[in-house]
Amino acid sequence: MLRGIIYALLSILLLAFIRGVVGILTKGVGDLFKEEQAAGGSGGGGGRAKEVSGELLKDPVCGTYVSSSSAFRKTVAGKTHVFCSEKCRDQFAA
Ligand SMILES: [Zn+2]
Repeated sequence: MLRGIIYALLSILLLAFIRGVVGILTKGVGDLFKEEQAAGGSGGGGGRAKEVSGELLKDPVCGTYVSSSSAFRKTVAGKTHVFCSEKCRDQFAA
């Protein structure tokens, strides 16, 4: 009877221990993954900013792909065009 209780307690402790180890391992892996992502983002020069800025749009003048958040933009007939430079924007307007 006493032995059964001890075994039950031991198995509970063992399960708790295994859960703890697994938790630490998964957390550790998650942290490593996050660190890798952070390192990649800083290395790429603002990876997060790129995500926010969204898609690339084609400069209709020179064909360069420009971020849709480009400062050089012009809306014509309800369609917003983005340009790589002020020069291209002026050429498009002409
Ligand atoms: Zn251009």
